Amino acid sequence: MFHQSLDWTVEMTTIPSTAAAIADAVRSGVLKATDVLEAHLARIAEREGEIHAFNLVTTDEARAAAARIDADVAAGRDPGVLAGVPIAIKDNMCTRGIATTCSSKILEGWRPPYDATVVQRLAAAGAVTIGKTNLDEFAMGSSTENSAFGVTYNPRDITRVSGGSSGGSAAAVAAGFSPISIGSDTGGSIRQPAALCGVVGVKPTYGTVSRYGLVAFASSLDQVGPFSTDVRDSALVLEAISGHDPMDSTSIPQGPLSLQGVLSQGVEGLRVGRITDMPGGADPDVTERLEAAFDALQAAGAIMVDVQMPSMKYGLTAYYLIAPAEASSNLARYDGVRYGMRVNAPDTNAMYSATRSAGFGDEVKRRIMLGTYALSAGYYDAYYGKALKVRRLISEDFDRAYTKADVLLTPTSPIVAFPVGAKSDDPLAMYLCDVYTIPTNLAGHPAMSVPFGTGAFGLPVGVQIMAPTLGEQTMFRVAASLERSMIASGGGR
Ligand code: GLN
Repeated sequence: MFHQSLDWTVEMTTIPSTAAAIADAVRSGVLKATDVLEAHLARIAEREGEIHAFNLVTTDEARAAAARIDADVAAGRDPGVLAGVPIAIKDNMCTRGIATTCSSKILEGWRPPYDATVVQRLAAAGAVTIGKTNLDEFAMGSSTENSAFGVTYNPRDITRVSGGSSGGSAAAVAAGFSPISIGSDTGGSIRQPAALCGVVGVKPTYGTVSRYGLVAFASSLDQVGPFSTDVRDSALVLEAISGHDPMDSTSIPQGPLSLQGVLSQGVEGLRVGRITDMPGGADPDVTERLEAAFDALQAAGAIMVDVQMPSMKYGLTAYYLIAPAEASSNLARYDGVRYGMRVNAPDTNAMYSATRSAGFGDEVKRRIMLGTYALSAGYYDAYYGKALKVRRLISEDFDRAYTKADVLLTPTSPIVAFPVGAKSDDPLAMYLCDVYTIPTNLAGHPAMSVPFGTGAFGLPVGVQIMAPTLGEQTMFRVAASLERSMIASGGGR
């Protein structure tokens, strides 16, 4: 990471760059949470103007939270494993009393009456929420250009996009605004921006992290997960936010994931799969890094195997029927009555229509129309029904592949960060950004992106590690191994 080596000095205090190191220092009284926070607020003041990672920086609430952490430490109470660690939250997660916009005009003025489970758990672990990050409206997009509040620029090159839809969360970590952040991933929205901004991003197994308080986009695909500068910090955050939640009916009834302990285990004897019939289209600078990742894992003792995923190429098509179908239903609740904005009109139907016309952006409207069409009488079987069959075939492909391989590797994104505006008039080109990330959402499997060097224009390239349901431990072992090989080769992380 480009800012990795920059430990900041604030009034003679050095602030470490990772969440793990900050929490250790705060818990042991070596560092004050308030100093950690002020260092990050200063960093935000310096660069947020050109990056726009946040919809809202919650300075006052963060200062109050940091002061409470310091008071806990002074009184001999342990604030938790994320003590005093600033964290940025994607603005589609509910924060009690604090605006939650989904980067949409339609939620104008709405303040949730409750915290998302993830937000609650982070606070309980001592993390300090520093702000709400920008996203593509309702998490629909791959560049954070679909936000009603403007683009989030890539901290690595501010003429380029940060990826999306969790572009603000990825950029916040890449710019050093917070060592960790939270995003949501329906088709790639954590992994793809992580890859484009050169940070780690994890989509855990469907059901391991509660969706309670995550504003729904496509409920059967949505998952919450972390961004961080290194693999260990993502493990740390996932341990803190995972585990059963009775408030989410799809939550897996088991305890939190246990990940930090496996990071040093290495990959000796692990079978790493290469998908020989993977959909094409990745740029050569990206595939070169994927090959380097295979080489690094082999050098670390892993065994390379070839697998086939014949249905993978239909993933994108199936996703763009299933996700909009679910979205068209989930977004029906924004009607001018229950939430946010209302445009008055002579009768109720006209009010609904005027509110939704004014409140939703173009991409959201496109998805609602696509989804409504795919679910309509006479087309349901041909579109939505067929997409569900493809979803099943993709899961079966994965099941077969995982009899031969423990993990599968692909590029995260087919391309490095593209210039702002380059794809905004071409929805299909934008959709292709997620060709490698979507299949795991359809299957519900875990997957993560790890920065693995740079490609064209010196921009970061991410490698995607996929694993079967609840295969997070294996996935993290591979991620840690790739990270070690990058550090050993002098490439940083
Ligand atoms: N880019 C994909 C989409 O636009 C995925 C978004 C996401 O994961 N939230 O739907």
